[in-house]
Amino acid sequence: MPKTVDCNFCGQNSTEIVQKAEDPFQVVKCKTCGLVFTRPQPDKGLIEEHYQEDYYKEWLEKQMKRRIPMWKKRLKELLKYKKSGRLLDVGFGSGTFLRLAKENGFEVNGTEISEYACRYVKNHYGIDTFRGDLEEARFPSTSFDVVTLWHALEHLPNPRSTLNEIHRILKKDGVLVVAVPNLNNFITRILYFLAKGKKLKLFSINAKELHLWHFSPHSLSRLLQETGYGVMNIKLDLAQIEFPKKIVDFLTLLVHSLTRKNFGEAFKIYASKL
Ligand SMILES: [Zn+2]
Repeated sequence: MPKTVDCNFCGQNSTEIVQKAEDPFQVVKCKTCGLVFTRPQPDKGLIEEHYQEDYYKEWLEKQMKRRIPMWKKRLKELLKYKKSGRLLDVGFGSGTFLRLAKENGFEVNGTEISEYACRYVKNHYGIDTFRGDLEEARFPSTSFDVVTLWHALEHLPNPRSTLNEIHRILKKDGVLVVAVPNLNNFITRILYFLAKGKKLKLFSINAKELHLWHFSPHSLSRLLQETGYGVMNIKLDLAQIEFPKKIVDFLTLLVHSLTRKNFGEAFKIYASKL
């Protein structure tokens, strides 16, 4: 059964509808704090069913090579904040980032709900990981220098509790990197509407990705501050490799250079544990 969740930020349940999805799902906005989220939430079984082997195979077989430059860029940027130590990647997916971080001298670990993905990184990269939710792993307190969530937080049932758990396992001054899709993705929305003549959906039960939370740089910064982090930097997350999406990235850069605003597909926040 889908679960009706309250606002993950302020705990209130008074909302207005932003978009309707397949019954009973809707994307709603909290009337108290403005957080946008999917309600009710698909239950864990349905989510796990959604992310089966085929989902990961797509990233591992068809997309991996093409996406390596993107992962290298992400790692290079992270190295400006932390050069070595213990790194945890939550929801590591293809495991490419774990592999690159390991090659760069980090001692790496990761969590994933997919047994297939965990087996893959063990067999191909010799990396031991935890299969399941971060909270179930019970990593020792203050044991990581870096925790990364590359497009993972929007998939997780309770971002606040995940950020609290990361706070517990990070060392003081440890670095957290969170990359998520951007609620203010106006460039994609406009191009999508021009191309397809309909509105881009924030959530569909049939979509490849099930996003439970729809963050803006503002709302995610606030959640990070509330859970004990200092926001160091909010940056564009340009990660597109296919041709039409490269246009989105180009326009994102252009608009950003003129206005300093991010209306692109995604953003990332560098934060430190206070
Ligand atoms: Zn709220």
